[in-house]
Formats: sequence, structure tokens, C-alpha cells
Amino acid sequence: MDDYVLVLNAGSSSLKFSVYGRPAGTGWRLESRGQIEGIGTAPQFSAKDSNGVVLGKTKLDAAVRDARTALESLAGWLAGRYQGGRVLGVGHRVVHGGAKFAGPTIVTPQVLGELRELIPLAPLHQPYNLAAIDAVAERLPDVPQVACFDTSFHRGQPAVAELVPLPKHIRDTGVQRYGFHGLSYEYIASVLPESAPEIANGRVLVAHLGSGASLCAMKDRRSVDSSFGFTAVDGLCMGTRPGSVDPGVILYLFQNLGLSAKEVETILYKKSGLLAISGISNDMRDLLGSAEPPARLAVDYFVYRVAKEIGALSAVLGGLDGLVFTAGIGENSAEVRRRICAASAWLGIELDAGANERNGPRISRAGSRVSAWVIPTNEELMIARHTGRLLGLI
Ligand code: ADP
Repeated sequence: MDDYVLVLNAGSSSLKFSVYGRPAGTGWRLESRGQIEGIGTAPQFSAKDSNGVVLGKTKLDAAVRDARTALESLAGWLAGRYQGGRVLGVGHRVVHGGAKFAGPTIVTPQVLGELRELIPLAPLHQPYNLAAIDAVAERLPDVPQVACFDTSFHRGQPAVAELVPLPKHIRDTGVQRYGFHGLSYEYIASVLPESAPEIANGRVLVAHLGSGASLCAMKDRRSVDSSFGFTAVDGLCMGTRPGSVDPGVILYLFQNLGLSAKEVETILYKKSGLLAISGISNDMRDLLGSAEPPARLAVDYFVYRVAKEIGALSAVLGGLDGLVFTAGIGENSAEVRRRICAASAWLGIELDAGANERNGPRISRAGSRVSAWVIPTNEELMIARHTGRLLGLI
């Protein structure tokens, strides 16, 4: 086995990984991907090769209860599978790079300290991302690590796009609009010249519609605004997050319903959105397959919010040249795309129904003033590329 780069995406109860090899002259090639789920409760390991063939699926010992023990378990599997191969570097998905990190960075003790200071801005993700970096440093002290941020792609936006108009002493604590899903948007921006050359240098909206959902407005492949704000709760309706709600509602939860901060957090991150509207599921497939009125309302609201945000961000761009769909719903649901495009017809989007059913790549008619596309995202490959570049591996 060749030497490889390991990409890690660590969450509160899961450690997702991808292994990228480097065959001569061909860039990074996915060797395998998988995850340890149920960390701390019922840990389970699964891995597939690049063709989706299952390489392993096993229950793990309950001792796998945190990033360190999960990494130990993963390292054991990697050593067995890739005998003779060395880990050249580890690239991490890190949710928050704050205002400072406008690009990926090699992890040093100083960088790690700065990233720890950002924990209050993303308490549900950042600690777990950093715990994985600590675990790798402990187990593989000589292997360089790279942190790749979900926020970086959005740095450099105009001041008005980043502003949260609260008193200065509050803004000075770091309250601004950061934007997220940046690795996905950066990947799409990187493939636009090849995948959709006629819009690559124009005004483009990318709709990342998965269990988390957001839109990014790009000019010349750079982010000028997005629907996510200070946190990844803002903007579009998501699987279990509401998207934008009147801040007065949050005050009401505290002042009139007497909820605690923890309860409000759980509602905003885990109990709202599609799940709350439908009362059935946070999974778009379940909702599209259901005839229940609340499930239909959930899909209606999802489409309505995306279309409304498309209108707003088209105004930001001063018009629109192309609309790109990506992520789980965006790549796979012809129905949701059809409905969003129908609601955005006023902008000049004319859908090609057949191409849409075939999942693109181009799903608008030849004469459509605004073109529409389906482009699969690949955040892990983006991290592998950054890691290889920063470590001088390629
Ligand atoms: P994550 O943010 O967890 O990476 P994904 O990008 O994998 O999420 O997207 C998950 C969402 O994609 C789920 O709501 C799922 O229902 C939806 N999805 C996947 N395939 C389809 C499909 N064929 N039709 C509709 N929705 C789909």
C-alpha cells in the first residue's frame, strides 16, 4: 500500500474518516471511507471502499467512548488494512476558524490555542474537532496535521454581509456572520470551470441542501454572502434546525415559557425544522413519501424558504447567471429541485424535466437565461487537497 493522507471529521458521537492515496501524477484518490458511530453509547465501526463495497462493519467495545479511544480503534483497522503504508498527514474538518483563519492551516500549539478560544462560538462541534487533533498528536506525534475550516471560504465578504447590528461591545466578543459549509462551497467553486464553464466567472448561487442546508452567493467563485450567519442555525429550514426565526421568539421561550438555555439549545439544534413541522421525520425521503398534511407542509416550507433566500441572494448578486444544487437533497431529489426551480422561474430559470430526472449535470433548457446544475460536493477531497498542498505532498 502507498502512503496516504487521512481525513477526519469528528463530531460529538461519531468519527468519520476517509483515506486518500496518491497514485503517481493523478492527484488524490479515495481508498476507503467510513465512520465510528455511537461513541459513548453503542460504538460501531463501518468502512467501504471507493466503489461502496463494504470493507468492515463491526460493533466495538464500549471502551470506545471518546476521540482518543475512537482513534485508537481506527488506527488498529488502518494498520491492518494498509500494511506498509505511512500516514503522511491528517486533515481535519474544523467547524470554526473565526475571523482570523481565512484558509486552512498547519496545526501548531499556537494555532490549537487560538482554535480553543473559538469553542464558545461553536460549542457543539469545535470541542470534538479539537479533541480529534489532540488524539492524533498523542498517538502520532510526528505526523503533521492540517485544520480546514467551514468558515474560511466566506472570509473576505463585504462588511455589510458579515455584520450583526448589535452594540459594539457585543460584536467585539466575536458576534458577526461567519457562514458555514465552506468546504463544500469551495469544492464546488473549484470544479465550476470544468463542470459549468459558462457560469464559472459569473453570479452563482450554490444550494447545499442536506440535513444541514444553506445557500452561498458567489461572484467569480468567491463567496459574497450566505444564508448561514453567526451559527449554523440561521437561514434555511433544515432537518432539525429551524433556520431564521424572529429573535423575539427566542426571548419568548425564556421569558414566557421559562425554558432554560440548554432546553432552548436542544429545541434549536435537534427538535425544530422538518422534524418539528412534520412530526414524522427529519429525513426528506420520508417526507416526500408521505401523504400526511404536516409532512407536505414541511416540504412546502423547505421549498418556500429556499426560494425566498434565492430571491434575496440574487438581489445581493445584482442578478443571477447560474444555480447549483448539491448535497443529499440537492443531488438526489428531482422533486425538490423541480419545485425550487418552479418557484424561481421569475428569475429566468427554465427547467429541463428529463435532465432533472437524470440528476443533471445541467438541468436547465438550452435557452434558459439562468442555467441550473447538479454538482455532487466532496468536502473530504477538498480537505485532502488542502492537506497535501500545505504539507508539500503534491
Ligand atoms: P449531511 O448534512 O448529514 O451530510 P446529506 O448531505 O447526506 O446530509 O443529506 C441528507 C439529506 O439528504 C436527508 O434529508 C436525506 O433524506 C436527503 N436525501 C438523500 N437522498 C435523497 C433522495 N433520493 N431524495 C430526497 N432526499 C434525499
